[in-house]
Amino acid sequence: MRDGRLLPSLAAPSTPPLDERPGIAGIAPAELAAWAGAQGERPYRARQIADFVWGRLAAGAAEMHTLPARLRAALERDFRVDTLADTSVRTADAGLTEKALHRLADGRLVESVLMRYPPRGGRRERATVCISSQAGCAVGCPFCATGELGFGRDLDVAEIVDQVRFWARRLATEGRRISNVVFMGMGEPLLNADAVIAAADALDDPARFGLGARHLAISTSGVIPGIERLTAMRPAWTLAISLHAARPDLRDILVPLNRRYPLDGVVAAATRYGDVTGRRVSYEYVLIDGINDTAADAGAVGDLLRGRLAHVNLIPMNPVAHTEWRPSGAARVDAFAREVRAAGVPVTVRRNRGDEIGAACGQLAAEQAGLAAPGAVRRRRDRMEREGAAALAARRP
Ligand code: SF4
Repeated sequence: MRDGRLLPSLAAPSTPPLDERPGIAGIAPAELAAWAGAQGERPYRARQIADFVWGRLAAGAAEMHTLPARLRAALERDFRVDTLADTSVRTADAGLTEKALHRLADGRLVESVLMRYPPRGGRRERATVCISSQAGCAVGCPFCATGELGFGRDLDVAEIVDQVRFWARRLATEGRRISNVVFMGMGEPLLNADAVIAAADALDDPARFGLGARHLAISTSGVIPGIERLTAMRPAWTLAISLHAARPDLRDILVPLNRRYPLDGVVAAATRYGDVTGRRVSYEYVLIDGINDTAADAGAVGDLLRGRLAHVNLIPMNPVAHTEWRPSGAARVDAFAREVRAAGVPVTVRRNRGDEIGAACGQLAAEQAGLAAPGAVRRRRDRMEREGAAALAARRP
């Protein structure tokens, strides 16, 4: 841990009590109505409960004070109103970035991040929340702190949307609202597609969270069946592809899922999504000094995306403990952006947020897990380091 201290409320890992009750935010409206009916309640009670969950962002049944005591007791018996057992928050960038480490009922740790964007150049103030879809991740990208944790488990619908409700509650105390939600935290969203799609539906739905489709983005490192499923659904959500390399041999190393779903197929599937939905596909590219930031790499990105409904986000890598890799310097980032733009592809350069609080995806959870299970995490970290170095050495002339 960078500052040598544990997060205060999460400092003592313990064996958590298992809680089998489903999270209420993951219950579809029709199911909730059926449950209320089974309790002998009139239909409007289900709407009242939904208003507490989504409108008033209740974290416990006790807050639902206009419900009869018997109904609150039944809710407590059958559901968890909040699936986040414990949360600790760190702040950085003079308050513009806040990162939460959430402990789930079974002790798993996941992260979410709030990024505030002050008003600028006629644009209104925005607040974007980045959420996790899995505890850990099986993809194992070598520049990512979540990768070193390995895969824990899929999150369920309520565990995903409760991260959003957590931040919405926090912003509400300031009279502010969330403007965007991105599924770009821990995990590969489209390897947990059922829960991610149901969560995005709940966040989109005007009768529930009501964020609106255009304010939701789902990222994937290239799970083609998941992209095809989204295409068939035709939502107006933004699809973000974690590109990170446009040359197949390098992408095999940086995004190991490339060996299963090669890049040409991923870009073809993403292009179909863009064509069907009319939404520009976003390509995320983490720039790593001397690894994927050469003129040849930029040229390959331009060649890959020229003429497509696409936009590239360049993000200098967040340094993580298990690798010596470092972010590309400003001059390299600018040259890379120029080269891609020269191919007619729009580019945005994103600034890293929250370096001092370990804002890299999975960094806080990896630190905490490293304390709880140092052997397993250390071994996985060593293996990723070894395999990444060997693979890169093999492709160099
Ligand atoms: S970058 Fe995303 S897909 Fe790759 S290991 Fe990290 S969480 Fe998984």
